[in-house]
Amino acid sequence: MYHSEIIRHPESCPALVLNADYTPLSYYPLSLWPWQTAVKAMFLERVDVVAHYDREVHSPSLALKLPSVIALRQFVRPNQFPAFTRFNLFLRDRFRCVYCGSHRELTFDHVVPRAQGGRTTWENVATACAPCNLRKGGRTPHQARTHSPPGSARRPPSSTLRQAAVGSTDCGGHFASTAASTSGLSTGTNTRGV
Ligand SMILES: [Zn+2]
Repeated sequence: MYHSEIIRHPESCPALVLNADYTPLSYYPLSLWPWQTAVKAMFLERVDVVAHYDREVHSPSLALKLPSVIALRQFVRPNQFPAFTRFNLFLRDRFRCVYCGSHRELTFDHVVPRAQGGRTTWENVATACAPCNLRKGGRTPHQARTHSPPGSARRPPSSTLRQAAVGSTDCGGHFASTAASTSGLSTGTNTRGV
């Protein structure tokens, strides 16, 4: 018989953090705290435990089941705008190259190249497949005689990204390869052709 909880290591017991209204504190990435942070918040009485693992941790005087879902006691106003990350940018552009619509070999394109003063911002970075990115090179869409990205090149509100994730059937297949990366674009290695 398989007892998953018996072999589960505490490091594999993150707690899902809900806001005081029981919605996740963040979606991308999903709000997870390591067990130590969750337990500390419990003792500081900043959270209520909604559910717990069977896994226990022990101190000399205490046995405690690790929380699996906790809710903040004080409501935190969610960020209106999501973080500028690889995943969120792909999500905004629905995992499609803004120039040709391809889903494959997605990279980031500085619409106005950095060499021409283009900045790494929501407004100037777009999802582009590798062939389009290479073809465009260090040129603006006008110089490369390709069409400019559509109006998606803007900072999206969090609600738009949530809708994109729910409404996009393409999202799931790309999630595994990109969700793990939450690093900012400025440190990404996939930016090409700039
Ligand atoms: Zn393309």
